[in-house]
Amino acid sequence: MTDIQELLLSRIRDVADYPEPGVMFKDITPLLADPAAFTALTDAFAEIATRTGATKVVGLEARGFILGAPVALRAGLGFIPVRKAGKLPGATLSQAYDLEYGSAEIEVHAEDLAAGDRVLIVDDVLATGGTAEASIQLIQRAGARVAGVAVLMELGFLPGRRRLEAALDGAPLESL
Ligand code: AMP
Repeated sequence: MTDIQELLLSRIRDVADYPEPGVMFKDITPLLADPAAFTALTDAFAEIATRTGATKVVGLEARGFILGAPVALRAGLGFIPVRKAGKLPGATLSQAYDLEYGSAEIEVHAEDLAAGDRVLIVDDVLATGGTAEASIQLIQRAGARVAGVAVLMELGFLPGRRRLEAALDGAPLESL
């Protein structure tokens, strides 16, 4: 493990049985409160944005907003929020996806993405991959391409990586 990975890992708090029994919640608030760790994370994500040739950074509600916005600024790119349905005021594209029980829907402002854009998707945790997969579909439906997906952590015992690999079509999934 690199020094940066050790620093990041040391600033993530495991909270058992939150928000429901059986879930180990990965709490990143200690990392956000430590400017050295937050800067290291931002720099690592910004390096991925530059290396993958991204032209925009998409952050997934809500922790993807906190992590993605400084990455966009550091890399000199625009930031675009992908929000839960009903939160964006303008004309949107929507994508529904299945949860363990029920379904969810995410949206993006249609005018924020254009053909020719290459988008880096940023979030804190990749679990089942459902949210990231729906975001990939949203970006592709807007006519843009996905440069990659960058997450702080992936839960390796879940099939998120396998699920995304098909959708990513060769673009990288990078977890720090
Ligand atoms: P999924 O769509 O299953 O990959 O879930 C990803 C989304 O749920 C991300 O936006 C995460 O912030 C959140 N999430 C899922 N599992 C966890 C976890 N164990 N700890 C913290 N956040 C999680």
